Amino acid sequence: MEILSNRILQMSESETLAMTRIARELKAQGKDVISLSIGEPDFNTPEIVKEAAKKAIDNNYTHYPPVPGYADLREAISKKFKRDNNLDYKPEQIVVSTGAKQSIFQTVMALVNPGDEVIIPTPFWVSYKEIVKVAEAKTVYVKTTLANNFKVTPQQLEAAITPKTKLIMFSSPSNPTGMLYTKEELKGIADVLAKHPYVFAMADEIYEHINFEGKHESLAQFDYIKDQVITVNGVAKGFAMTGWRIGFIGANVKIAKACDKLQGQVTSATCSIAQRATIIAMELNPVDNKDIIDMRNKFRERRDLMFKLLKDIPNINVILPQGAFYFFPEVNYYYGKSFKDYKINNSNDLAMYLLYEANVALVPGAAFGDDNCIRFSYATSDNLLIEAVRRIKEALLKLQ
Ligand code: GLU
Repeated sequence: MEILSNRILQMSESETLAMTRIARELKAQGKDVISLSIGEPDFNTPEIVKEAAKKAIDNNYTHYPPVPGYADLREAISKKFKRDNNLDYKPEQIVVSTGAKQSIFQTVMALVNPGDEVIIPTPFWVSYKEIVKVAEAKTVYVKTTLANNFKVTPQQLEAAITPKTKLIMFSSPSNPTGMLYTKEELKGIADVLAKHPYVFAMADEIYEHINFEGKHESLAQFDYIKDQVITVNGVAKGFAMTGWRIGFIGANVKIAKACDKLQGQVTSATCSIAQRATIIAMELNPVDNKDIIDMRNKFRERRDLMFKLLKDIPNINVILPQGAFYFFPEVNYYYGKSFKDYKINNSNDLAMYLLYEANVALVPGAAFGDDNCIRFSYATSDNLLIEAVRRIKEALLKLQ
């Protein structure tokens, strides 16, 4: 007799975390594996933020915080939304959670009933579809391709909306493609939402500060649909604070209250010390803060290096990402080919081949809903990137 719930049985392990786990295990066995799998800045958290955490412990911020986050943290996030995104979210519209992943999870659970439809443009971040599964809703995929810069059009969205549609989920800057939606493109999406007042959009902006094109654009800037948008953000990527687990939403009060209620039954609140440190992170202005600017510049240099390196691999199709720290090239030329016992039929096979033959961990495109591609995270040192791509090229050229 099966002891686990259908909900858990149907759900897949996070494939970004799975590849990272396998790479760690191989390294522990002494294998020289280069991991370009997880999307995690290799920088340290800014000193001033770390100091704030130490002070929080000394000042005994060790008790339960309010469920949606400390009032002064929500005030600081409200100011951040205004300063960086020109968004007016009052503190009561903000809920602070244990990572943007929990923010997204709560948003979906708060909005979606079993059987509702959730539109997810492909490629998408791996956890969206699994969270929708837990909510027992139906994912409706809308395909975008490298040829159209992996961006969904208003026409595609309009065609996918049915009376059962409740939510659209997307990220900009995008994980895994690194593409950005322009203000005009977001306006196109906003105009579709305006026609469907019961359809909501979860705008995942966690890569906001890793944007090589200039100003970040938020979907919620269009006032006429602002109440239909749940803006998700956090400190993991822009402030090199992945381990601190702080994410947050800005949303209409009804949705924020629902997420607060759910959070109160799940985690009570998120870590008091990480919250105190996040107040300081929120005060860092991305326009002139050296830590944020230095990280972004380093990521830009690596992006340019990686673009040059990948362009040099025969028969892969790559476009220049505009943000985040991923490349998502098309690699399907190599499908149908073999080397030794390896037969490559899809992105999973290719990722496994590159892991064992080249000792480089990547995440198969299938995990993001596009089996023609494979994801490279370039959040690591130049030397490792050069060596990883050298090994990958060598392994690909062996495939016949
Ligand atoms: N979001 C990062 C990634 O895509 C971190 C791992 C995860 O939570 O998926 O690699």
